[in-house]
Amino acid sequence: MAAAPVLVVEDEREIAQLIQFHLEREGFAVTRAESGSEGLRLATAKRPKLVVLDIMLPDVDGLEICKKLKRAPDTAGIPIVMVTARGEEADIVIGLELGADDYVTKPFSPRVLMARIKNVLRRREVDAHATVTLLGGRLAIDPSRHTVMLDGEEVELTLTQYRLLHYLAARPGFVRTRDQIVAAVRGEDAVLSSRAIDVHVAALRQKLEEFGGLIETVRGVGYRFADQWEPMPNDEPVPRKG
Ligand code: CA
Repeated sequence: MAAAPVLVVEDEREIAQLIQFHLEREGFAVTRAESGSEGLRLATAKRPKLVVLDIMLPDVDGLEICKKLKRAPDTAGIPIVMVTARGEEADIVIGLELGADDYVTKPFSPRVLMARIKNVLRRREVDAHATVTLLGGRLAIDPSRHTVMLDGEEVELTLTQYRLLHYLAARPGFVRTRDQIVAAVRGEDAVLSSRAIDVHVAALRQKLEEFGGLIETVRGVGYRFADQWEPMPNDEPVPRKG
């Protein structure tokens, strides 16, 4: 089987080499671009399986590349993992809203980056009508009936809380910005501000009781449903940070 091609767009050569080394060790075929324009050209010409995209580039910045790739029909389906400088939450928010699939913050551990890349490649868009079953069946969300069952008991949620939970839980580990959440959970004519999302999250966490911690706050960015969970001996759920 041919190695899956990955394009790494990164102008800092040492970082690019490090990423390449780890990707190749995992069996990927790596192409590198050291500028934004080169990255855009190669992504369009080669249609890689995934793009690792630095935001700070000497010419066209990564956000612009992300926007262009996600808007072009030929490249829209290529997953993008962004690499951002620490403290650039605004860039992360913009990147996610432009369609980036995940991100790591510099300095990152290669192990974390590889895990993110493999996760992104593994995840598929979840069927909006499929039942979402999590935590070994303890939490089940049934979109056909709009019900949430927790350890066999139905959890009474408002429609907004239900939609919020379903949206986040459908793709564990994916960070969603407040604006993305608003767009996904807002009903036909309901008025919902991005700040109101915080209130709905708080209420939802309370209703999920000991499982409330599964809805993680990603500071400065938004929320995500934890993708790793280990029951403690006393049955307290402990979401682990990757
Ligand atoms: Ca850079």
